[in-house]
Amino acid sequence: MSVTAFAGYTLTFAEADPADVDRLGGKGAGLARMSQQQLPVPPGYIIGTPACRSYLAQNRLPDGLVEEILHRLDDLERASGKVFGGGPVPLLLSVRSGAPISMPGMMDTILNLGINRASALALGTATGDSRFVADVVARFHAMYSETVLGALDPGAGVDRVVAGVAADEDPGVVYDRVWAACEQALAQDTGDSVPADPRDQLMGAVEAVFRSWNTRRARTYRDFHAIPHDLGTAVVVQSMVFGNLSDDSGSGVVFTRNPVTGEPGLFGEYLAHSQGEDVVAGTRTPDPVVQALAPTVLGELRSTCAALERAQGDVLDIEFTVERSVLYLLQVRAAKRTPEAAVRIAADLVDEGTATRPAALRTVSAAQVRQVQRPGFDPAEIAAARDGGRLVTTGIGACPGQVSGALVLDPDRAKARAEAGEAVVLARAVTSPADLHGMIAARGIVTATGGSTSHAAVVARALGTCCVVGAGELHIDPAARILRAGERTLREGDPVSLDGSTGELFAGAFAAATPAAASGALDRLLAIAADASGTEVLSRVTLPSDVEPARAAGCTGLVTAIDDVLAATGHLDGLIAHLLAGPTREDDEFERFTDLVAQELTPILARAGELEVGVRAIDLVADESRELLQQTAVTTRNPELSLPLGRRALVEAQLAGLSRAVAAAGGTARVHLAVRHISDPAEARLLREIAGESGIPVGSYLTSPRAVQAIEAIATSCPVIWLEVRSLQAAMFGLPPRLLLTAEPLDGYLRRGLLALDPRTTLDPSVHRLLTGVPAVSGPARVGVRLAGEVSEAVVEQLYRLGFRRFAISTPETRPLVLALGRAATA
Ligand code: ADP
Ligand code: MG
Repeated sequence: MSVTAFAGYTLTFAEADPADVDRLGGKGAGLARMSQQQLPVPPGYIIGTPACRSYLAQNRLPDGLVEEILHRLDDLERASGKVFGGGPVPLLLSVRSGAPISMPGMMDTILNLGINRASALALGTATGDSRFVADVVARFHAMYSETVLGALDPGAGVDRVVAGVAADEDPGVVYDRVWAACEQALAQDTGDSVPADPRDQLMGAVEAVFRSWNTRRARTYRDFHAIPHDLGTAVVVQSMVFGNLSDDSGSGVVFTRNPVTGEPGLFGEYLAHSQGEDVVAGTRTPDPVVQALAPTVLGELRSTCAALERAQGDVLDIEFTVERSVLYLLQVRAAKRTPEAAVRIAADLVDEGTATRPAALRTVSAAQVRQVQRPGFDPAEIAAARDGGRLVTTGIGACPGQVSGALVLDPDRAKARAEAGEAVVLARAVTSPADLHGMIAARGIVTATGGSTSHAAVVARALGTCCVVGAGELHIDPAARILRAGERTLREGDPVSLDGSTGELFAGAFAAATPAAASGALDRLLAIAADASGTEVLSRVTLPSDVEPARAAGCTGLVTAIDDVLAATGHLDGLIAHLLAGPTREDDEFERFTDLVAQELTPILARAGELEVGVRAIDLVADESRELLQQTAVTTRNPELSLPLGRRALVEAQLAGLSRAVAAAGGTARVHLAVRHISDPAEARLLREIAGESGIPVGSYLTSPRAVQAIEAIATSCPVIWLEVRSLQAAMFGLPPRLLLTAEPLDGYLRRGLLALDPRTTLDPSVHRLLTGVPAVSGPARVGVRLAGEVSEAVVEQLYRLGFRRFAISTPETRPLVLALGRAATA
């Protein structure tokens, strides 16, 4: 029978193209691939997803499908030398669901299909075991009743009948007795009957698998995982093998490596004398594969798993059955794994030569790297806490992170407890420079007042500390050591948990995964990624103690901002007071400022050693620090400070401070100073002129579309150019850039469908156009991209494709960025 005579709904394992997962489903594609690799897969064929879609649309099997299925069945009989519904060797089938996107356990599968009196008799004669026949008959009847006919209870009476069968009884008599018992139980339950003709059974099973695409649980699963509802499922029709045949038979599931820790070595379970459903059903406890399998079978499973890993370049989850000591593979798919395991496995696969770098990098996401290095809460635990009334209040998420710790209401006590080794969450009505030591010591910071540009928010972001601000319900009494929110009272020392993205404060601690285990593997993986992308990544630091963690994260350089440094060391207020005090003598007006810049930058440069350090000049109109900088008052008093180079002396003071810091740090530091918001070549020329006297390379953080359009001319004067993606996105949307730093209110706005794309996670086409060709800009300028907030893999890939190879990012997001760049480079 040639393929072309068919309507083309079906394909055998041998014919199917394993890459065509949309048509074959994941299960069918995996079986086709394995069987084409000459691995031991029971023969079978696949009814593709188009047939399912047609069935669901018309509510009946598409024309020609029945004929095609029967033709395939003839082929299968011929190929296996077995007979469907007869003997001497009966062909029994499994009819299995398998969607293009894995939906484990959501849809139906029917085993042992093809049972009638003749095949039962033949089965008994072939095996000489009527107990086995009884088991298979009862299993089939129960599964068909449940799956196709919607029966609820296969009938307790059946078990007794099956248990009473002797091995040497006449199989025909056994069939009659068991079938009758099954039918009686079903009739009581549904009034229905299982067809006696195996071909009718097959059609009933195929339809049932099609229908199982639309069960409530399958729909719910797809909604939750954002899987489209119109894909449909494929159906695999496959010759049965019997793990329930004898003691040297059984079934199992094995991961090619430990999916929890990533450790190499087979990890899985095996249940002797069983069919696959028994392992899942949990009625008997399976044994570890390495102990339970006979040595020869285990050896074969080992070598098969290794070959499959090499062929697919990934860790796999394999369902198998052993029939009389012969191994059969029944399913293969990429294994689900913890973030820790994902990292370890990817690194190991490359080191062993099992996977190529691109293949290994494909298996780990930036989000997993983030989770491994910065443990987060279990989403289920958060949901349970919300439902359980543990949510104390919700403020504005100002700096992401999920931390638990002891609640402390005073910065001195926070510092003391942290020094004693305790994790601390500092809660204040509002923070000021007087709180800095406590803020630096705390794992999390929460305030009752202030917005996302307040002191607490700006300093927390500079420190990379999880922070929630503006939690207005909180009443904090540091002297009484009590925090009230509505009806609830918390005492200092009580465990609390903070989510810096959602702004939620919970009572009680959450378990967070410990990041330690995978760190060696993480370093190896990131080295692979860094090597693949060949990019520079500069990490943002604010305090000298930030330099080591940045270096450990794999940065190739550092960036810092003078406003952040002064805010985090408590010196910003002096400058602001000075600016508010009014005109002073021109020549030495910023002398104190110069001293502070020199004093605070020296230790950072000293620690940086050979690492390049990019310094951003103070930005008195920075949208993300409005409250902290008292912008309205400062710019009312000094209107020219709204312009990048409006007050030359301010830039000179910073250059002078930086020069002194370089000298004090030994004179070898590689530094530059960048002034934000330049948009005109004339400004760039003036900046170069100002810098000429200092010898420090200068440049700008470009924040406007106009500046990007003039980038070539600006770069002619200034060797240092940074593009601020967040500001450019905000400019194109006409939104304040600070909005892109927090979850709300933008999340809610997006949920209402009022913006076609999220400016935090996707480059707007207008920005994409603007940046096209920019990396090719000539001259000495090296154009870098400054990223803010959580790394979006989509944005990183877009930027990499555009040709950008130099990036700046916060320290906690350095590793996710390095990975994302490696993935972008090998995509
Ligand atoms: P699910 O998608 O829920 O995992 P499967 O189609 O994989 O459902 O079937 C579940 C189990 O049924 C398999 O793990 C295997 O143990 C058993 N099974 C399926 N097909 C066969 C077969 N041809 N021979 C023996 N057992 C099978
Ligand atoms: Mg399965």
